[in-house]
Amino acid sequence: MADAPPSALLTPTPDDDGAPFWAYTARGELRIQACADPACAELRFPPRPCCPHCRSFDSEWRAMSGQGRIWSYVVPHPPLLPAYAAQAPYNAIVVELADAPRIRLVGNLVASADARLDSVDPDRIRIGAKVQVVFARVDGFALPRWVLERP
Ligand code: ZN
Repeated sequence: MADAPPSALLTPTPDDDGAPFWAYTARGELRIQACADPACAELRFPPRPCCPHCRSFDSEWRAMSGQGRIWSYVVPHPPLLPAYAAQAPYNAIVVELADAPRIRLVGNLVASADARLDSVDPDRIRIGAKVQVVFARVDGFALPRWVLERP
């Protein structure tokens, strides 16, 4: 990765609360922050210091299966940033996690982890389709992206 030129794609700006999420994706793990109070144990996303359910400041990072369903999607139209225009038409999907149906992550549906953003024909995208997380290496980050369980 050190020698790869910058992609010009948008990349995360991790803060103290979100840094563990990106440390886990770098290891190929999708983990979601959870309340560490055993009486609560609710998952939350995006990461934040305080549990919105019980106000505990104790948290842990729970491993997810990486399976989910497409909850919604869009196919962005111009004007697009140049790096994205070069890979249009692409999609942005919202994935509802199988392990945590109230947690939804935004990402891209792609043919494989390192495939281009336009690697899936937008006409093939269906709400409710089962997807599996993959991790794309972009500018030093491991970005969660999604592939169809049944391509
Ligand atoms: Zn809690």
